[in-house]
Amino acid sequence: MNRKALLHNLLPQTQCRRCGFADCEAYADSMNSGISSPNLCPPGGETTREALFSLLGMPVEPIRPIHKDEEVLTALIYEDECIGCTKCIQQCPTDAIIGAQSVIHTVVEQWCTGCSLCVSVCPTDCITLVPISDPALRISVNESGVRYSEMKERLAVHGRLDEQREYLDVEDRKQESLKDIVAAALERKRQVLE
Ligand code: SF4
Ligand code: SF4
Ligand code: SF4
Repeated sequence: MNRKALLHNLLPQTQCRRCGFADCEAYADSMNSGISSPNLCPPGGETTREALFSLLGMPVEPIRPIHKDEEVLTALIYEDECIGCTKCIQQCPTDAIIGAQSVIHTVVEQWCTGCSLCVSVCPTDCITLVPISDPALRISVNESGVRYSEMKERLAVHGRLDEQREYLDVEDRKQESLKDIVAAALERKRQVLE
């Protein structure tokens, strides 16, 4: 495995873009090229920062305040205010949001990395980040990376526009089954919050 791959493997695969890059792989590429400092990944916390400096053979630099280990968060959609616009789904790097056009959307906690990318795109401000109900539910770094890779492959095959078009057709083809999935997910979420 080359150094860029090793650097990439050390990153948390949250794909949150808070390092200033499009995803974890792009940041690993920049570090490997000597362009970026290894202390730009807030979700990685101290452990990741120290491992990155070590792999690059650089003296560990002091932690920045924003790079301390963070609380484990997950997205929560307030379904009463969801208008089913699908904007959040299009942002999610791990396909952790379920829903269809004009249908309530919900987050599958086990697949959410807490990246917050869905929060800012919601036109009704009905998505927020909350502490995860059980830290054991947090998606593993490996599974997060796999889900992101699969999403990128799908977009590469169909193209984002085609995928959106296909998604808009989902209501006709699968609305009833998606409604069942959403209803079950919402019920699980309600039970967790009670
Ligand atoms: S998890 Fe870290 S490396 Fe990956 S996109 Fe977020 S800030 Fe960048
Ligand atoms: S549901 Fe939102 S916070 Fe969770 S992974 Fe998807 S975009 Fe990120
Ligand atoms: S962006 Fe907001 S309103 Fe649109 S589907 Fe997602 S949660 Fe619902």
